[in-house]
Amino acid sequence: MTDLASDTSAALRREVTVRGVVQGVGFRPFVYGLATGLGLTGHVTNTGSGVLIEVEGPGPAVYDFCVRVRGDAPALAEVASVEHRDLPASGATGFTILASHGAPTGTLIPPDTATCADCLAELADPADRRHRHPFITCTNCGPRFTIVTALPYDRDQTTMAGFPMCAACVREYRDPANRRFHAQPISCHDCGPRLRLRTGQDRSSTGHCDAAEDSIARARELLADGAILAVKGIGGYHLACDAANPDAVGLLRRRKARGDKPFAVMARTFADIAELAEVSDKERQLLESPARPIVLLRRRPDTGRSLDSVAPGLAELGFMLPYTPVHHLLLGLDADVPGPRLLVMTSANLSGEPLAFEDEDAFTRLAPLVDAWLTHDRPIHVPCDDSVTRVCDGETLPVRRSRGYVPLPIALPEDVRPTLAVGGDLKNTLCVVGGRHAWLSAHVGDMDDVATQRAFERAAQQLTAITATSPELLAADRHPGYRSTQWAQRDTTRPHVLVQHHHAHVAAAMAEHGLDGRTPVIGVAFDGTGYGTDGAIWGGEMLLADYAGFRRFAHLAYVSLPGGDTAVRRPYRMALTHLAAAGIDWSPRLPCVHACPEQERRVLARQLERGVNCVPTSSMGRLFDAVSALIGICQHAGYEAQAAMELEAAAATCLDAADTPIDERYRFTLRAPDESAPLGVSAAPDESAPLDESAPLTADPAPLLAAIVADLESGTPLGRIALAFHNAVAALVAELCATAREQHGLETVALTGGVFGNTLLSRACARRLREDGFHVLRHRIVPPNDGGLALGQAVIAAATRRETRAL
Ligand SMILES: [Zn+2]
Ligand SMILES: [Zn+2]
Repeated sequence: MTDLASDTSAALRREVTVRGVVQGVGFRPFVYGLATGLGLTGHVTNTGSGVLIEVEGPGPAVYDFCVRVRGDAPALAEVASVEHRDLPASGATGFTILASHGAPTGTLIPPDTATCADCLAELADPADRRHRHPFITCTNCGPRFTIVTALPYDRDQTTMAGFPMCAACVREYRDPANRRFHAQPISCHDCGPRLRLRTGQDRSSTGHCDAAEDSIARARELLADGAILAVKGIGGYHLACDAANPDAVGLLRRRKARGDKPFAVMARTFADIAELAEVSDKERQLLESPARPIVLLRRRPDTGRSLDSVAPGLAELGFMLPYTPVHHLLLGLDADVPGPRLLVMTSANLSGEPLAFEDEDAFTRLAPLVDAWLTHDRPIHVPCDDSVTRVCDGETLPVRRSRGYVPLPIALPEDVRPTLAVGGDLKNTLCVVGGRHAWLSAHVGDMDDVATQRAFERAAQQLTAITATSPELLAADRHPGYRSTQWAQRDTTRPHVLVQHHHAHVAAAMAEHGLDGRTPVIGVAFDGTGYGTDGAIWGGEMLLADYAGFRRFAHLAYVSLPGGDTAVRRPYRMALTHLAAAGIDWSPRLPCVHACPEQERRVLARQLERGVNCVPTSSMGRLFDAVSALIGICQHAGYEAQAAMELEAAAATCLDAADTPIDERYRFTLRAPDESAPLGVSAAPDESAPLDESAPLTADPAPLLAAIVADLESGTPLGRIALAFHNAVAALVAELCATAREQHGLETVALTGGVFGNTLLSRACARRLREDGFHVLRHRIVPPNDGGLALGQAVIAAATRRETRAL
């Protein structure tokens, strides 16, 4: 065999197949530039399975090409694989970009991406032909996922199909040296979508303020006057108002029936955010990343009350930077012009309903909420909410994974069967797996709403289409009352696997860390609610789990959940329940007792005594609620996890005081299986117990609650109590993990479930576990809450078919 690498005279022809996120990211223009720069001839085309290239030229140049096609790929590309095979040289001349062909078989669509620096500069440049063009994009930025209707990714398969390019745009599109070479969504003032402002009076088509400039100017005036606007963005409409105007914020709160739930704020520049919040390097990097998520940041203590109406009672506030040209124009670009610098930007929906993203729906459904609509005629094919993130120990902690991240795949370590996992009923997302990829949908919402269920079906259809996956198997939560589960069960064409809620959480954490799920880990799954295999409501769980099954190693001792949802909305009821279970009197001096009307107290006492309308629960989320109410922080929860979030905020105020020593009185009592007596629940063994069948340990918070009551009465600051409680939970986790390691030799701990959205708890647990020599897995890609559940369901279901053992 000749050594071609040293023989520079021999012409070599190679077919190169590149897979991954390689369409809609300027990959073909990049290939063109790379090939012509190396003096190679050939062609490049998008196919259903990626990008197919043929290059021909001197051997060393061809080898160089094959290395650099991966190493120098465009910023938005994610190259999963490069394969090549040698072909006979053809002697052809020139390098061309061929039309796309082929049916899709696993090409990946990129996420929507924030306006890039080059486009921003043009937007602000009076000499540029796209000066202030509200839809400026290029190969490096703009909408993708939300406008793609089918594969392969070409303009006629996007919602830009209705906007034929003008001659000037066509020239740029065809010019290999241009930044817009083969960029599908490009347009200009002459050929692009139209921005317009629609006010309440001109619901008919007359009287529109059509010119983009007039629309922007009028919208800015309205915002400055305290009006509420619906603003069409990338993945749906926002409701916007001036965040610095408490009256406007209050009006929006009332119209949206929002209660005290915090709003996210979009700031004109990073400097505007840094004035109001403490921002670490990692947080800044997230804020300015192409995904442009909402980042939850600590408010500066010296900012006074200026944003109190935006996030009452919370030390944290969600900020984001503009990510579309319309946002930049609405906030006045970078220039120091008068007008709002900070906008409340909240998803345009009534609480519980899905995000409005279709124009007619937005005009009718949002009419009671807004004074005007800043809209345009580029359709959104699939809705996509803003993503929400926190930073914990210098790493991303996703709270909601949606725009900017979806549909980036999560890599799996081995091939899995094509499976669709339907997720849970709250914060629903669904997940498609196949081959070595898992794709999660955008945030769908809460499934008790019919419109959300329709959005769910649309998301499922679109995700299977753009990933070219035909699921053979369905996975759903074990909860018989979940709409998502019932949807899966109505499908009689495919088998379905029911997965226990907390098992799915643990598997999600394992999957995103690339584990193959054959070796069990210690899974600490703390959340509000999940259906247990014994019919109780679980939520303070320590499982020993692999993908094939799990064993419940330990859990929070059962208490009665009186009246289900009522106990969630009124945390004082949970506090009274926990006090009763701990044998502590309901002294009227305690804030939670005081908050409970006497009549309700009497009924509750009887209810707990007789177990009427009570379900046993081991929920850690409910224990956080109970402690929050017990010390008087939150008695009525206006939104999910409000009591727990305010408890965390209180604890955080004492963090800086010094390293608080562990308070030995703040502890749980651990009971061995034979001593534990669950309240009226038969401890049915799990049907899937890979390790052994012994009953779980239980952790009883009675001593902890007694210590809290004693400290309350001696006037200990609430923040200190809240912090001691967090530390006690971390100590419990450390102790249980040490026991599990002793008995089973497991060294890896996954921290998962919605309670681990609490960074204070997460940090405390991780620090202790690492000091004890454990390998700790925390969520960085999917949320620890139910937004990540579908990933765990999918890998568990897919694993049931790789082994003989059925779940
Ligand atoms: Zn750009
Ligand atoms: Zn044009």
